[in-house]
Amino acid sequence: MRDTVEPSILQAKPYIPGKPIEDVKRELGLKRVIKLASNENPFAPSPKVLKAIRTAALGVNRYPDGGCYSLRKKLAQRLKVDPGQLIFGNGSDELIIFAARVFLKEGDEVIIAKPSFLIYQMAAKIEGAVVREVPLVNFRYDLEAMKRMVNSKTRIVFLGNPDNPAGTYLTQKQVAQFLEGLPSRVLVFIDEAYYEYVTAKDYADSIGLIKKYSNLVVSRTFSKMYGLAGLRIGYGVGRPEVIDLLNRVREPFNVNSIAQAAAIACLDDQGYYKKLAKIFETERKRLYRSLDVLAVRYEPSCTNFIQIDVGPQAGKVARELLKLGVIVRDMTVWGLRSHIRVTIGTAQENQIFIKALKKVTKSQSHKVTN
Ligand code: PMP
Repeated sequence: MRDTVEPSILQAKPYIPGKPIEDVKRELGLKRVIKLASNENPFAPSPKVLKAIRTAALGVNRYPDGGCYSLRKKLAQRLKVDPGQLIFGNGSDELIIFAARVFLKEGDEVIIAKPSFLIYQMAAKIEGAVVREVPLVNFRYDLEAMKRMVNSKTRIVFLGNPDNPAGTYLTQKQVAQFLEGLPSRVLVFIDEAYYEYVTAKDYADSIGLIKKYSNLVVSRTFSKMYGLAGLRIGYGVGRPEVIDLLNRVREPFNVNSIAQAAAIACLDDQGYYKKLAKIFETERKRLYRSLDVLAVRYEPSCTNFIQIDVGPQAGKVARELLKLGVIVRDMTVWGLRSHIRVTIGTAQENQIFIKALKKVTKSQSHKVTN
């Protein structure tokens, strides 16, 4: 069978997600395991969202509304865009895949940051595109270098704003400057999966920039602040003509009915999610303080995760934390050999993590000095 398959598929490496809690419990014989590895929301959806989920469950014998009519109407009003400017995906991952499917063919080039969210390059490589990576500078995008890399073969530039795994954001000025003068045949895909966590005043209003730039698509998700990661729903915003192209590769019923109902309820229950946003901000600051006390370095983040510098053996630290029942992301796969990425959890989870980190880093420094 292998010889009938395109080389781009044979070269593709399956995505390795963070380990599920149950696997770790079983494998290590642990009773209590906390997962701070996949930038999930540690809290359950709001009671109103749970009610909407239960009601929608009664109708799952029917196919979902392929056009997401009610959600589209509500979201369009909220974002002040035309309903035709929206496309929904089975998670925002799917929108990245649609963009690659539509705009890339073999030999085309895609520009991304190094490191950046792995799906950008996975989606591009499957289409046979060449991925050009521009190293981050101090955990920030080097937009000037990225722009310089644009050539006649460039078709997509993916910008994570905020970026995962860096946790940093781009300002309005930076994004506008980047878009200005870029050939309109280059799609700029701005991934705003962590949009709801950002409080910085100069954070880019990318959706607002669509009025000026036809080659811009912005994606967001209900997986992070809205806590619907398990239901898989995200959306993209762009000019109607670009959305129309993306829509051509969309499977007719790609967004399930429970996800649609839950997303509508999330939009109707902003008070609950604003409270969560405050909790995350408090917890982020608390984690910074605890890390300061341990004299462990970290990168200030505007998201629900933090890059923590644990020294040259990040992989080992991550494995030791796992033994203590704390799942974090070892950043070695991203080429950051001294970092682990830790998702901000509940106050209790964060305390457990700090305690475990203290234990692990103490034993590490003990080994080094001996
Ligand atoms: N973009 C970024 C930067 C992410 O970190 C993630 C989730 N890890 C996604 C997109 C995809 O999220 P989802 O498919 O759940 O919407």
